[in-house]
Amino acid sequence: MPIVSPPAKVLVTGASGFIAAWLCKTLLEKGYSVVGTVRSESKGDYLKDLFKDFGDKFSYIIVEDIEKEGAFDQAVVGVDAVEHLASPTTFFAKDPKDIIGPAVHGTVGILESIKKCAPTVKRVVLTSSIWSIYHAKDNLNYDETDWNVDAPKAVEQLGRDTPGYVKYSASKVLAERGAWEFVEKNKGSINFDLVALNPSLAWGPPIQQVRTVEELNETLVLFHEHTRIQNPPKTKEELMSSASAVDVRDVALAHVVALTNSEAAGERFIINSSSFTYQDVLDLIHAQGNHPDVPKGYPGAGKDVPRVEYIYTKAQKTLGIKFRTLEELSLDTLAALRAKGF
Ligand code: NDP
Repeated sequence: MPIVSPPAKVLVTGASGFIAAWLCKTLLEKGYSVVGTVRSESKGDYLKDLFKDFGDKFSYIIVEDIEKEGAFDQAVVGVDAVEHLASPTTFFAKDPKDIIGPAVHGTVGILESIKKCAPTVKRVVLTSSIWSIYHAKDNLNYDETDWNVDAPKAVEQLGRDTPGYVKYSASKVLAERGAWEFVEKNKGSINFDLVALNPSLAWGPPIQQVRTVEELNETLVLFHEHTRIQNPPKTKEELMSSASAVDVRDVALAHVVALTNSEAAGERFIINSSSFTYQDVLDLIHAQGNHPDVPKGYPGAGKDVPRVEYIYTKAQKTLGIKFRTLEELSLDTLAALRAKGF
């Protein structure tokens, strides 16, 4: 089974993003060479500067439209592995096509480009999501055998009226399915295998270019909205809503380990730390010191709320990742946002 170890050259798509910037940094620290795809020169130059200590080990290439046929033909040439993260990460797409198109065509398109132009590529790591896993069922425990069958159906039935997060879920599950189908259909004629990572909501310090609150990526916006007292207050119902979180630095590390682990081939992995209600997050922040700038909400009220559990023992065992706790990642996120004045 292929193992891609340093000093191999890795292509990271969507390098300007929250997770991808940490992934580039982690790869560089481990001794890999990294080529990042970005949509503009200014985003590429920001990264070049961020990684200046690594000299010419980091470079970037512009891929403006990942949906275009052959978009990645040039970018994949000569690399040993691909980490595919570029995808619209928004819960506010109007037309489902605006988000599903780039997600699916970007994913299948890069696999086609590798098949056509890059026989050197031995492994592709695809950043999928727990939204490709979650679906309505009788119990609240989810693992890698679960597939989101609901979101694509909802989009078919409701079109533009589909709730935003369901449109996003559909984009992730259809992209991941498209990748597995591509690999199955082409197994006799490709040199690479596929690993899918399915992270929960990623929080943690942003190192991508973020000059204003408006430039924060979608998941940090959620964190910011709930944890800054100056923002419009959340209702009790909103604070009791639950989700699952993981630290962006652990997500990045999982992407790196996924390159070197032979047992990861052909597998999907839930990348997750902890389920939470937003009230839990407020409570644990206040338990760790004086934070007058963080709302108190309804202390203690979130802890008995039933919540979905994403079982991540497979990632712990196979990839050997020890995930940062909800407390650690929440406090680090808060500190990083406040350091930026947000
Ligand atoms: P960001 O929004 O920070 O980054 C997304 C990246 O994709 C950016 O580089 C962005 O470019 C690029 N991108 C978006 N749309 C397009 C497009 N149409 N064409 C070309 N490039 C595009 O997101 P995250 O870092 O949060 O997410 C990265 C990946 O991880 C995504 O695949 C996401 O679905 C997945 N994921 C994220 C989770 C999270 O909690 N954050 C959890 C689970 C999975 P630009 O900077 O130019 O906009």
